[in-house]
Amino acid sequence: MREKKISRRKFIYGASCSICSALILPSCAEVPITNRKQLNFYEYNLPIILPSGGIGGLPQIYSNEKHLNNVIEIQYQDFIKKAKSKKILVENTSESKKIKEIGMHISNSINRYYAKNSLKNPVSDFKWEFALLDVKDQKGNLIKNAWCMPGGKIAFYTGIMPIAKNDDGIASIMGHEIAHAFARHTVEKLTHYSIISLGTQGLLNTNYGKVLEDNSDIYNNVVQFGILLPFSRNMETEADYMGLTFMSLSGFNMEESVQVWKRMQVQNNNKVPEFMSSHPSPENRIENLNNWMQEVEIKYPSV
Ligand SMILES: [Zn+2]
Repeated sequence: MREKKISRRKFIYGASCSICSALILPSCAEVPITNRKQLNFYEYNLPIILPSGGIGGLPQIYSNEKHLNNVIEIQYQDFIKKAKSKKILVENTSESKKIKEIGMHISNSINRYYAKNSLKNPVSDFKWEFALLDVKDQKGNLIKNAWCMPGGKIAFYTGIMPIAKNDDGIASIMGHEIAHAFARHTVEKLTHYSIISLGTQGLLNTNYGKVLEDNSDIYNNVVQFGILLPFSRNMETEADYMGLTFMSLSGFNMEESVQVWKRMQVQNNNKVPEFMSSHPSPENRIENLNNWMQEVEIKYPSV
C-alpha cells in the first residue's frame, strides 16, 4: 500500500508546473532519440491518477510505470483470451507469424543498438507481444488498424495488411507503433488526464467517464490505454520519425514507409483511416519521411 500513497505537496508541485509549462520544461523528462521535452509523472516518482476506473468508481491510481505495465499485462492477456474465444485472433498463419517475426526483429534491433552504444536501454523491461486480429466493422469491412499499449503490447488488424503489402511495409507500421510505446506517449497522455482530473474533476467525470462507459464491451480496458486516447500531432510526428530510425536499425527499406502512406490514401479514397489520427495529413507525413530518410540512415545505421 505504501507506494500507492500520494504526497499531496509533491503532486500539486507537478500539477502546477504543467500549468507554468515554461517553468517545468527545463526539468521535464526527455524522449530518447528525439530529445523532445515530455511531461511524464513517473519521471518524478508521482502516481498517475485517473478520476474513475477504480473499484466502486473510485479514482484509479497507477503508482509507477511497473504498476501500470503490470495492470496492462493482465488486461492484454485477458483481451487475447477473449479474442481467441471470439475467433478474431489470427494464429499460425504466414501473416500472423510475419507480424511476430518483424515485431521481434525490430525490438531486438533496438536492444542491440543500446547495448552496442553502451547506453541505458529505455525499453529493457518491456515485454513485447505482437498479435494479429481479424475484425469487421458494422458494414462488414475489415478493420484497417494497428495499435500499441504501454509496455510493448502491439496489435495489427488483417485489414491493414494489404496496405502494408510487404515486409518493409509491415516494418514501417510496426516501427511507428513500437515508437508510441517506446516514447511513452500513452503515459504522457495519462499524465495530462491526471492533471486535468485534479483540476477539473467534474468536467472529466462527465466526458472521460462517459466515453469509457459507452464502450463497455470486451475492449473496455484495452481501449482505455490503447485506442481511445488519441495521440497529439507532435506524438504522431515523433512516432513517424522514430519508426524510421527503428526501420533503419533493423535493416528495412525506409522508402517503403512513403509507399505505405500512398497506399493508405488510395485505400481510403483520401479519407482518414482509423489507423492513426487525423493529423498530420498523409501529404505532410510523406514529405517528412522523405526529408528525414538521409539523416536517419547516417545516424542510425543497421545494427
Ligand atoms: Zn500513431
